[in-house]
Amino acid sequence: MSNIEKLKTYVESINDLEVINNTSDLKRLSRDFYDYSPILKERLNDCIADVVVRPKSIESIIAVVKKCWDLSIPLTIRGGGTGNYGQCVPLLNGVVMHMNYLNKVEEFYPETGFVKVQTGCLMSDMNKELAKNGRELRLLPSTWRTATIGGFVSGGSGGIGSIRWGFLRDPGNLIGLEAINIDSNPQLLKFNAEESEPLNHAYGTNGIITSLILPTDVKRDWYSLVINCDDFDKSVEILKLCTAAAINLKLGAILENEIVVKMPKWFRGQNNCNKIVLQVSLSGVQTIDFICKKNGLELQNLGKEIDLEYGISDVVWNHTTLQMRAKDKVWTYLQMLLPLGNELKLIKTLRKQYGKKLLWHLEAVSQQGVPRLAALPVLKWSGENELKQLMDDCKSLGAIIFNPHVITVEGGGLGVIDADQVKAKIKYDPKGLLNPGKLEGWEKKEIFISN
Ligand code: FAD
Repeated sequence: MSNIEKLKTYVESINDLEVINNTSDLKRLSRDFYDYSPILKERLNDCIADVVVRPKSIESIIAVVKKCWDLSIPLTIRGGGTGNYGQCVPLLNGVVMHMNYLNKVEEFYPETGFVKVQTGCLMSDMNKELAKNGRELRLLPSTWRTATIGGFVSGGSGGIGSIRWGFLRDPGNLIGLEAINIDSNPQLLKFNAEESEPLNHAYGTNGIITSLILPTDVKRDWYSLVINCDDFDKSVEILKLCTAAAINLKLGAILENEIVVKMPKWFRGQNNCNKIVLQVSLSGVQTIDFICKKNGLELQNLGKEIDLEYGISDVVWNHTTLQMRAKDKVWTYLQMLLPLGNELKLIKTLRKQYGKKLLWHLEAVSQQGVPRLAALPVLKWSGENELKQLMDDCKSLGAIIFNPHVITVEGGGLGVIDADQVKAKIKYDPKGLLNPGKLEGWEKKEIFISN
């Protein structure tokens, strides 16, 4: 009997564990949204787990981990499976562990507003629980309805809320966690904020995170506002004015008019011009109105987020790309931080080179406390060479690229190996069984073993 057959037989005997073996579910649970990238689509389409397990207790995770260790079988963790870089795709087959049954909000700490939550909890469910205490999550991906909090911390970066709270890896956005290591004696380990850092945004390569302690914010009613603006340059100026105002903002984005016409009707309305999209608390609405009037612009108040049939999150962050692809699968995208003060220079230069093949979608973010503009432009795909050329052009104009067409933690981030992430993998996953192929630094681990 092969090792994988031995494992498949063994997992059937574990209590509190659902085992999935049928081919259509194995395929479905081995994928995410990597097909936004034609490069990843080709690379990942045939990857499939040998078996998927859904643990309902810590003990059942430990039982699976022990067997994977004994038989040297790869183990890839899955949350909601909404990642864009094939983060939860099992490159070397083996076991996919789906965390969706471990989904309880375990504790709320009123004096700090911290919350302890199991990692399979959907962010939509988490916010419902937090609302009972007058709180809400600070940061949300636009996939918050179907994505898990564990997947967001392990595979996401930021999103709605990043205008105020920055990115997930910024100090203060993760307070602690519990995780299981994979060796001959797997255990549930506790990590404080500092110890948690190497497991934050590591694609589940250096520990199975079972719960997280996260900060929350006071719950507010967020109003969705749209400002119509014919002049793209002016829309950038106005967004900057809004982000500099003394108001609570949760979101600030710009979609250029060629993107707006491809968005759902409830959003695009009658005005197919560039649109600035904001989420602001009630006390800020009149300030935005004032900024608009002063600049001769029309403001649309779509109302409280909760009252809307469709949320504004359906047209921002990577949902803009989703809407473009719903119209035509030829669209892919890129992600970058624009050079401070030279955002429009970069956009104008690239417009001359790429014309309507490259359409602009900007997001206001806080980068280590400094208001900045990120961009998620959509690109009409015409091959890998052009993509590479475009990334080189962006870099030479001062942008920092977060490449969504690669499978490794480092490739999708700043392109550099994080020694602490590799050291944590050596310590908590010494055989390299967790999500193999996703941490570049692991291939060079000898350098880190001696340090
Ligand atoms: P998964 O995709 O299941 O997993 C992500 C990674 O986390 C994998 O490497 C997995 O192995 C690991 N992982 C999951 N759970 C655990 C665990 N318990 N322990 C250890 N590792 C674990 N991302 C953003 O950051 N911001 C956005 O605004 C955003 N918008 C998006 C819009 C669209 C249309 C799409 C398709 C994607 C978007 N994403 C965005 C990417 C993705 O949706 C989010 O990052 C999301 O939070 C991932 O959560 P998930 O539960 O789906 O994780």
